[in-house]
Amino acid sequence: MKKFWNETAETMPEETIRVLQLAKLKETVAWVYEKVPFYRAKFEEQGVAPEDIQSLEDLPRLPFTIKSDLRENYPFGLFAVPPQECVRIHASSGTTGKPITGGYTRDDMAQWGECMARTFWAAGVRPSDICQNAYNMGLFTGGLGFLIGTETLGATLVPSGSGQTERQIILIQDFKTTVIYSTPSYALTIAEKAAELGVNLRDTSLRIGVFGAEPWSEEMRREIEDRLGIVAMESYGLTEMGGPGVAFSCSEKKGLHINEDYFIAEVIDPVTEEPLPLGEEGELVLTAIQRRAMPLIRYRVRDLTRLYREPCACGRTLLKMDRVAARSDDMLIVNGVNLYPSQIESILLEIPEVSPQYVIIVSKRGYLDRLAIDVEARKEIYDLGKEKLKEIEVKIQSRIKGIIGLSAHVRIVPYKVIERSEGKAKRVIDQRR
Ligand code: ADP
Ligand code: ZN
Repeated sequence: MKKFWNETAETMPEETIRVLQLAKLKETVAWVYEKVPFYRAKFEEQGVAPEDIQSLEDLPRLPFTIKSDLRENYPFGLFAVPPQECVRIHASSGTTGKPITGGYTRDDMAQWGECMARTFWAAGVRPSDICQNAYNMGLFTGGLGFLIGTETLGATLVPSGSGQTERQIILIQDFKTTVIYSTPSYALTIAEKAAELGVNLRDTSLRIGVFGAEPWSEEMRREIEDRLGIVAMESYGLTEMGGPGVAFSCSEKKGLHINEDYFIAEVIDPVTEEPLPLGEEGELVLTAIQRRAMPLIRYRVRDLTRLYREPCACGRTLLKMDRVAARSDDMLIVNGVNLYPSQIESILLEIPEVSPQYVIIVSKRGYLDRLAIDVEARKEIYDLGKEKLKEIEVKIQSRIKGIIGLSAHVRIVPYKVIERSEGKAKRVIDQRR
């Protein structure tokens, strides 16, 4: 059985990748300059023309594209082909505001299928697998991206969609599902429901999960593997780049490989906007070099990561990025201290009595910010009485103080008080805004 979905593309020498990237970048820059008035104006404003791109080192001469450019040109202002010529139009889930749109030509769809097929193959999915797609299968790119990749690979897809959690479990049992696709938080909702129904997912045919669409800590990944009895693999992407399929995990489970023949990745200092060398953490910037309906140039993703090129034991030569632990939009500043929800998640999940269901609430008390964390305990812990719960609260509080340096009001709330996620979990309530 082959080791890679596309051996040529996934194991190219760096030099070959760079030659290919430059050729595709030049084509794409010329394409948007000709077809998208927004880009022509932006390039002119920056004093750069397509002919100026003669090597990959010229990439930083091109202007950035930012989320508000998409919002201001909603719905089709950044399309390089008329919407009627697209075979598909998606929109983002709008986690951080007005949704943004993305169009696809027939060839863009084929590329998407290819990128996702690589993702699945690397995750261990094979044509004989039965894959249950518990992502929302609508405007959101996640569901249909996982669909096209599974079709491209040739495995069997069960489009269960998100929600109706009890039925998900019945389908897993009846159809002998071997692979599950969902957000990490929905995977936990499914695991919890299974436990309530007396079904041990570890005893089912499930063997692999491919998760994505939201940040999840390493502790969360292990929790999911343990509760579902699977290997938890990962897909990374965003609507602006066509959806999932930008990067994917491999057998090393360390970092994600970027589909470099389709996307050029850079990392910049979010403040100075200067490109950072490989290995340094900053804001991810992506350029889609083969898409045609809406290729974005130097799109500032607002996710923080680090890029590195090192031999990977899986055999792929594709550039790697760290798993995305945080979107910069999610960063909270609490009494002057920068805080990411994932930091809290890691602390909580290291405490065995605590469940992964939590919400962070920030509010204002006079001039000061107040940080509160509502979290549930594992079901059996509630029987140990109030004293025990108090003890856990104190333990969490002191860990947060010790690791992050903030005083938090931690509350163990009753079982199931926290809303269960069926898609992207909402972990933060900021009452100061
Ligand atoms: P929205 O911005 O409305 O959530 P998208 O569905 O396009 O719209 O979400 C893309 C974002 O989801 C990414 O920029 C990133 O923040 C997050 N994301 C996607 N996949 C992952 C992943 N594997 N790990 C962490 N975050 C992810
Ligand atoms: Zn690898």
